[in-house]
Amino acid sequence: MPRNPADLHVWSLPLRNRFRGLTVRDGLLVRGAAGWGEFSPFWDYDAAESLAWWRAAREAADEGWPAPVRTHVPVNVTVPAVDAATAHRIVRDSGGCRTAKVKVAEPGQSLADELARLEAVRDALGPDGAIRVDANAAWDLDTAVSRLVALDRAAGGLEYAEQPVPGVDDLAALRRRTHVPIAADESIRRAEDPLAVARAHAADVVVLKVQPLGGVRACLELAERIGLPVVVSSALESSVGLAAGVALAAALPELPYACGLATAQLFRADLVTHPFRPVDGALDVRRPDPDPELLAAARAPQELTGRWAARLAAVEARA
Ligand SMILES: [Mg+2]
Repeated sequence: MPRNPADLHVWSLPLRNRFRGLTVRDGLLVRGAAGWGEFSPFWDYDAAESLAWWRAAREAADEGWPAPVRTHVPVNVTVPAVDAATAHRIVRDSGGCRTAKVKVAEPGQSLADELARLEAVRDALGPDGAIRVDANAAWDLDTAVSRLVALDRAAGGLEYAEQPVPGVDDLAALRRRTHVPIAADESIRRAEDPLAVARAHAADVVVLKVQPLGGVRACLELAERIGLPVVVSSALESSVGLAAGVALAAALPELPYACGLATAQLFRADLVTHPFRPVDGALDVRRPDPDPELLAAARAPQELTGRWAARLAAVEARA
């Protein structure tokens, strides 16, 4: 069904640091009977792959989300591939997060850089905090086996390692060669068959993201079929989009790990008056409406608005 143009809003917001090669994040908000939804696939996703993102936006706008079973969602602080002093400061200023996710396997960095970063994070968190690493599928199997020994020692114990190697078979093989628990991220959200990870016993934990997986209900169903603990993470959404991730984390029957939803602080500005920021290491479960003045301030230039209109038309033609 065609949407009223007044119910579509293209936004563009500056990021604090370069992330995924971006200094600005942009997307489209759509308003329906249930509220505002966010459609913000990255520009390297084509129309076919963006369809799941549009389903998630339509669910938010037209249907809303299942009822929450908790009022707060514990979240991790994300530590990019920064030097040790910066890593220490990021954890200290994280709003009380008791879990840190540390990026590793950054091109151009050495093992020594990673060990120093992990030691700094442990120092900032204290002995009872949890540390996980994310290698974004950058290692081969043998590298992953040896790196995890060293990183686990430097961290004083790793909670898990997220997608250390690319494929499901290598994840499964790695899992037999390390005592560090393994989390699957890319192997779920960009896979033809997200259940392959469970069948191959390739992970201890799965990372689910609402937009790439087609909505909160689709993720709840997938979580049930996978049967492994879930960590809900963002796709670098505005706080309007983050609310869907929070809704998923709030609706999961069990939530044993902190979620990767504390990403609003990566933005210099947001679309809601009170962006999702952790307090005592957790986000409140709520659904903020965009603020009209902030929406106006974030309004995308005409050329970008045109690109999003064309993109939405291409995606809707497949829906
Ligand atoms: Mg990841």
